[in-house]
Amino acid sequence: MQYISTRGGVIGHYCDILLEGLAPNGGLAVPERMPQIDSVDLERWRHLDYADLATEVIGLFATDIPRDDLARLCRAAYDPARYASAEMVPLRDIGDGLTLVGLSEGPTLAFKDMAMQFLGEALDYVLEKTDGVLNVLGATSGDTGSAAEHALRGRDRVSVFMLSPQGRMSAFQRAQMYSLHDANVHNIAVEGVFDDCQNLVKQLAQDLDFKKAHRIGAVNSINFGRISAQIAYYVWAWLRYTDRLPEAEREGVEVSFAVPSGNFGNILSGLYAKLMGLPIRKLVLATNENNVLDEFFRTGIYRPRSAADTVATSSPSMDVSRASNLERFVFNLLGRDPHRTAATWETLADHDTFDLSAEQGRFESEFGIVSGTSTHEDRLRTIRAFFESHGVTLDPHTADGAKVAREHVEPGVPMLVLETAKPQKFADTITEALSTPIVADAETRALFDAPQRVTMLPADAEQLRALIEKSALR
Ligand SMILES: *Cc1c(COP(=O)(O)O)cnc(C)c1O
Repeated sequence: MQYISTRGGVIGHYCDILLEGLAPNGGLAVPERMPQIDSVDLERWRHLDYADLATEVIGLFATDIPRDDLARLCRAAYDPARYASAEMVPLRDIGDGLTLVGLSEGPTLAFKDMAMQFLGEALDYVLEKTDGVLNVLGATSGDTGSAAEHALRGRDRVSVFMLSPQGRMSAFQRAQMYSLHDANVHNIAVEGVFDDCQNLVKQLAQDLDFKKAHRIGAVNSINFGRISAQIAYYVWAWLRYTDRLPEAEREGVEVSFAVPSGNFGNILSGLYAKLMGLPIRKLVLATNENNVLDEFFRTGIYRPRSAADTVATSSPSMDVSRASNLERFVFNLLGRDPHRTAATWETLADHDTFDLSAEQGRFESEFGIVSGTSTHEDRLRTIRAFFESHGVTLDPHTADGAKVAREHVEPGVPMLVLETAKPQKFADTITEALSTPIVADAETRALFDAPQRVTMLPADAEQLRALIEKSALR
């Protein structure tokens, strides 16, 4: 399987694109064709554990990794000892026709662990083979940074330089990151907001000589390794849901998924699963007040907002106004035509908007995507409602998903809501919703008590450059 750029040209194989974010022409790496699965595959996979299922699914994309090696990587990434639930990804009915898909049982209590744990293993594997090293440089508003650090900590060939905005993350997120003392983890708290962090990363990434000299890479949400690993849990959720049905009634049963969305990474994996042949009816995209994607899917007009027009919400991991993975959807929408895709992104660069309203009817009919917005009030109300009716505490992002999911439930079609984080990570909002403080368990208290280590830095590219020069692996 080769990978091509959404704007044209061949990029390479799976192992090549793991280390490369963007294609040289600015496009994103996509598989040259979508692998297909059918009901025979699904029944063959029904009895596999999570690691073996992930091997099958990722193996359709990572054809340049020998199957035994891939199985070993997946077994390490999806070792039940790394997850809070023995089921890895448990399903739980929460009423109103909704079923929660527990993707947040990993080490940092967010769904990003599911892909990042695999990526950590895969990066090590590729670097071992090529005798290389990689210095991951990234910016985080919370979940990405901690998931990356927990996946990469203690590795010999990878180090992490993670910028976070001083005083802008939850106490839990800070503790998760800053309590890591591994020599290869560098936490850098920048004086400023998340966008200042991201701008610093961009400034350094644009300096190609610096990037090359210091082996700088990224594990952000456009990384195809993450996209491919996420497809596995859509398949898993379908299998576990249909386990409940009599054997003769399972084939082709359609389910819908509701996905709390920011950078369009998670839901893109769901779309790929659907295009591969998994029986998915609808993909319900939920946004918070930063509802650029909801606007796009309702109108076909994409109008990303500036950092200044992106509001800080109580579902902070979805505070995104420029969804980096959307280009992969548009590529499919435009018949996988790299010229039309490139032209659309040229329009975006020139006018900061593009208009695909002529195609909008196909968003749902062909791709199953519908959308909705959830506000702070919706979030609080939803958290309260599911707590009262089913004793389940949803995290604020998952609550956005559940709120929008309810608006799209169809009779007879199961609605699977992806749980993208655990509520402990966002205790303030839970407390506000339930009017009682969330009680910290022993593990959380120990995390808060652990000594923290972080380097303070002004929003200054030269100082960041100096810091990396001093500590980068070479
Ligand atoms: C990252 C994240 C999201 C958004 O996922 P995308 O793949 O960026 O759309 C939603 N919820 C939580 C808790 C997250 O950490």
